[in-house]
Order: sequence, then structure tokens, then C-alpha cells
Amino acid sequence: MTSPTPPPLDPPHRVLLGPGPSDVPSRVLLAMAAPTIGHLDPAYLRVMDDVRALLRQVFRTENELTVAMPGTGSSGMETCVANLIEPGDEMIVCVNGVFGTRMTDVAGRCGARVHVVEAPWGETFEPDALAKALAGHPKTKVVGIVHAETSTGAHQPLVEISRLVHDAGALLLVDAVTSLGGVELDVDGWRIDACYSGTQKCLSCPPGLAPVTFSPAAFDVVRNRETKVQSWYLDLSMIAQYWGESRVYHHTAPINMSYALYEALRIVVEEGLEARQARHLLNHRALRAGLEALGLSYIPSRSLPNLNAVHVPDGVDDAIVRKRLLQEHGIEIGAGLGPFKGKAWRIGLMGASSTRRNVTAVLAALETIMGDLGAPLDRGAALAAAGRAYRTEAQ
Ligand SMILES: *Cc1c(COP(=O)(O)O)cnc(C)c1O
Repeated sequence: MTSPTPPPLDPPHRVLLGPGPSDVPSRVLLAMAAPTIGHLDPAYLRVMDDVRALLRQVFRTENELTVAMPGTGSSGMETCVANLIEPGDEMIVCVNGVFGTRMTDVAGRCGARVHVVEAPWGETFEPDALAKALAGHPKTKVVGIVHAETSTGAHQPLVEISRLVHDAGALLLVDAVTSLGGVELDVDGWRIDACYSGTQKCLSCPPGLAPVTFSPAAFDVVRNRETKVQSWYLDLSMIAQYWGESRVYHHTAPINMSYALYEALRIVVEEGLEARQARHLLNHRALRAGLEALGLSYIPSRSLPNLNAVHVPDGVDDAIVRKRLLQEHGIEIGAGLGPFKGKAWRIGLMGASSTRRNVTAVLAALETIMGDLGAPLDRGAALAAAGRAYRTEAQ
């Protein structure tokens, strides 16, 4: 007997207010339905060139080596580390959450001698802490740091850190998975040597590609390696030839994912980087006013506008609230990770998900659910506070 065919796909419509993926505009989904063509077809090569030009605009860089790597944000992390690090190289990694921790793991696997600089989860790094680490490890080749730590909502300032790293003769590697297209990021202005991102956070594209950019100095390091890059698949010296003039086949590019990224980047550029940042900030201020009116307090001292991490109040069951948000309101928010497991909610307002409608919806839903669960709260206060925030900004 043959087993019956599973039913047709029928994923529900959700409002994605977690740590990614974010809501994907239909323009982007429709782009993915365009005809699949060959990865060396001149029409596809044009798409690659345009994606690269758009990525340069959004990263704010002139870097020649700017590509979209196959795989999710973590593939961008591995690409940067694997290409810059040779066995025995020293690397400082700043750890204040899940993604800094992941970077130490990747660096170790690439053979780096890893020196960890730690800050408490939810905090950011002060330049002093890094200056000390650099003085203690003068042979440091690369310093890795997360710009937007999605596990805690912490927003790391980078200008002063970059100056210290370059004064010490090291390269600056920045995780911009959650920041690209949401908060200010200036790869050339801040002298970032290697930077990676992902498609499903503030670019509002499905997960599947990792934008990566290398400064000329970082690309020189790749070209002058003594050993081969430990990962064949992520070796930028070969990938650069596929993206460059010679178009040498390396891997089959994820054609339709590139269409999606192309359209998502067009949307970012149409809106404009500054307008987009202002929108993220406005909706964050309103959400924050509403959450605080519900009695919820923020975890990080410097919060990202696009990822709002708050403490779950005592006596409130984290899992029940998230389950009801999803089942009754169709809204997804994120749970806490690591030390914040069961103790934090992470509400993303990323890319297309950052709208007044979503701010209102999640505040109303949270108030309803928390009220039902008996949490002491002032009914109506959250939406009123959010409304005031929008009115203040409009003046
Ligand atoms: C999501 C995220 C990653 C990992 O990206 P994946 O797409 O899940 O592989 C890395 N760093 C940060 C800061 C992230 O938010």
C-alpha cells in the first residue's frame, strides 16, 4: 500500500513580531515566483550585479567584495571568520549574549586562539574594556562584536570601538544581522572591515541569504593567506571570482532567493535609509511607552528600536502568554534565551513588521491576555501611552 500524499501546504497568516523572520511584503514573495533561470545566464548575472550595488547602498560601503552568501545569517558569520582566521591567529570576541557566544564557537572551530571579553547580558561594551583586552593581546588580528544583540536587545555603539581596534592594528568584524536596514549602520564611515547580515530580519525577506562585505584591507588578508580557507563552500577568494568579471562557476546560486533579496533591497532603497530608521524609532518609542504603561520593564540599558526585550513580570507564565498571542491573535513574539529563558519577551519591530498597526495590535493583545491572567494593570493605559507617543512625534 502506498502512503497517502500529505495535504497541500497551508501555512497560516501571522504577524511576525519576534526576533526574525519578520513579515515579508507580497512584492518580495511574488519576486520569488519569477522564472528560475541559469546561474550563468546573462539575465541572472545582471540581477547579481544589481543586488551587489543595492547591498553597497544599504551597507553604506564602496567595498568591491560585497556579496550575498548562500545560507542564513550564521553562514555570514562563518564566512567572515573562516576567511579572516588562519589556525593559531588571535581573535578577540566580545560576548554579551547568544550571538557573541556563537562567534567564539565559530572562531574556535576555525583554529583561532580566542580571547573573550565579556559584558553582562543586556549590557553593551564600553571602549575601556576593549582597550584593556587589546593591550593584553597585542597580536590580535580580528576583533568580533555584535552590533545588535538580538538575544538581549542591546544596541552596541561602534565608532569608538572601531578607532581602538584600528589603532591596535587589528581588523573589525561586525555582526549586523539584526541591524542592517533597521538602525544606522555605516560600514565605510565606521571603518568596519568585515560585516555580515541576514535576509529575514530588518530586510524583510525570507531567510536564505547572508549579505557580506569586506573592506580592501580585509580582502587583502584573504588573498595573502598562507593556508586555504578551512571551508571550501565559504571561501571568498573563489566566491569573489563568481561575483567578479571572470564569473567562474563555484556553486549554483540560489536564483529565486536572489530575486527576493533584490526586491527587498529595492523596497529599502525606495523608502530611504534615514526614513526607515526614523520609522523604526517612532514605532519603538510608541511600543516602549505602551509596554511600560503595562508595567513591563526593558532589559537592556541601550535598547535597539527593532528588538524590544522586556522582563516577564513575576507571577505571569511566559509560555501561556506567547501561546495565546499566537493562537488567539496570530501574533508571534520571541521567548528569552539562555539566562533569560522563561524570563523575557523579545518583541521585534523589524522591517515591514515595524508599523503602527502592529504596535497597537500587540499592546492590545498583551493587555487582554495579561488582564485575563490576573496581572494588575491599568486597562487602556497602554494604547493611550502609545497614542501619545505618536502624537508627540507628529508635532
Ligand atoms: C539571527 C541572528 C544571527 C543568526 O542568523 P540565522 O539567520 O539564524 O542563521 C546571528 N546574529 C544575530 C545578531 C542574529 O540576530
